[in-house]
Amino acid sequence: MTSTVLFKSEGRNYYLHSGFNNRFLLCHPLIHHFADLTRIGGDPAQWIDQIDGAGIYLGDLGPFSRAQVEYYFGKFLFLKENHYFEDVDIKKKLSDRLSAQSVKTTLANCRQLTFEVTDLCNLDCSYCAYGKFYNDYDRREGKNLPIPVAECILDYLLELWNSPLNHSHQKTIYISFYGGEPLLNFSFIERITYYVKTLKLMHNSVRFSMTTNGLLLNKHMDFLVEHDFQLLVSLDGDEVHNSYRIMKNGRPSFPFIMSNLLELREKYPIYFNKNVRFNAVLHNRNSLSAIFRYFKGKFNKSPNVSEVNPYGIDPAQKAAFRETYRNMNESLNQEEEYYKDENRNSFLMPRPRDVIEVIRRYSGVVFRKYDELLACAHERSFVPTGTCIPFSRMLFVTVNGKILPCERIGHQFSLGRVSLDGVELDFHQIAKTYNRYFESLSSQCHLCHNTEACIQCLFNLPINDPHPKCFGFKNHKDIAQYFSSVMTYMEEHPEVFFNVLEEMSFG
Ligand code: SF4
Ligand code: SF4
Repeated sequence: MTSTVLFKSEGRNYYLHSGFNNRFLLCHPLIHHFADLTRIGGDPAQWIDQIDGAGIYLGDLGPFSRAQVEYYFGKFLFLKENHYFEDVDIKKKLSDRLSAQSVKTTLANCRQLTFEVTDLCNLDCSYCAYGKFYNDYDRREGKNLPIPVAECILDYLLELWNSPLNHSHQKTIYISFYGGEPLLNFSFIERITYYVKTLKLMHNSVRFSMTTNGLLLNKHMDFLVEHDFQLLVSLDGDEVHNSYRIMKNGRPSFPFIMSNLLELREKYPIYFNKNVRFNAVLHNRNSLSAIFRYFKGKFNKSPNVSEVNPYGIDPAQKAAFRETYRNMNESLNQEEEYYKDENRNSFLMPRPRDVIEVIRRYSGVVFRKYDELLACAHERSFVPTGTCIPFSRMLFVTVNGKILPCERIGHQFSLGRVSLDGVELDFHQIAKTYNRYFESLSSQCHLCHNTEACIQCLFNLPINDPHPKCFGFKNHKDIAQYFSSVMTYMEEHPEVFFNVLEEMSFG
């Protein structure tokens, strides 16, 4: 598989991306031509020998004198000597695998523990990940996570956090509360908050966070402010945009949530500005521009925007799901004019996010780990897929005591359990299971041009099928189109590129 990608922007600039060096080059059309010729098995030197007379007319690229052709051939050879057209050994690059020790070390450095406090909810949102569209979660039975079980996992983690395996000293660990609606089990939140404050963490500080629908904020805001909770409030925009978020009795939730939010802002304005963020779900009753306009106008904030979860759909619900679902990029394209005028610098928007992703993954100047900085681009090795190393993002505990690597995947993928009898985590078994999944996808990954920027989580694929098909696979043409669209955007909005470089810190 060739690892050099040749592409052209809409502004008719020619580029190449060398996978071997992980670098973009803006290049002369003739260099592009030589590289393309080589890619399809031709020989540029022979091609030059066949040029008659003083020059050549190259279709789209224009006329070139023989002197120009020879000059740029010299440059092409220079790039070639410096490996710009060399192929990456993709099998070697994707040869990393997990070991029991690497999983345990990652857990000792885990910086977020999230409790599914309760599976109860006081809303009945149509697109809820635990609702009618889906069939990949444990049945909701009105359960609460027992407090002693939560204390048990905290004690287990405390030992690891204080062990020599933890090298994330000085970093903040987040204890997060999630639901259902977590505030329906407020006594759990209260008890665990006080319990966490008694723990003697030797290397880290702790903060609390919660995802809430906001309906009970009026009752508990004093406690949340006192303990400096970071709040992520789920709200899809104005009353119409929010109309999928209904109460159990079918009435709209918007007036109650809004009244609570305004009360919180009125009573604790500094806290509200600093600690409250929003998450809006994109669907067929709102749009990206409407969401951003609403939150900017109402709260002077930019929300996170997420799509309705497209995984784990019950086959009987596919049509209803399709009706509700809106894809972020499609919404962006339909509203291109809006983003030309406003928000184009917001790093939360899809196009600036693409710029960030391209700089982060393909520019060769951002390193995820120190050993990446010390190794050449082609010497780095990764596990296949974009799946996180278990516990690198979080450890999630369900109301049933299942342990998962995050809250977004099906409960059938639990990695262990916690109960009153203790914590069951078999690091050997976890490593073995992940490595088996990696093997089943690796033949596709070896042919894929998306390996540097892959965000495909294997748990969102039919991973237990004998030959699971990856939806994120990109062939040479796909990646060339992607690079072309991002470069075109950067050429049209150079300020976004410079703002990303100046304002982003890549963690
Ligand atoms: S969705 Fe997958 S990759 Fe993302 S945090 Fe969860 S387990 Fe990790
Ligand atoms: S997109 Fe799919 S095929 Fe491509 S690297 Fe990621 S997991 Fe592998």
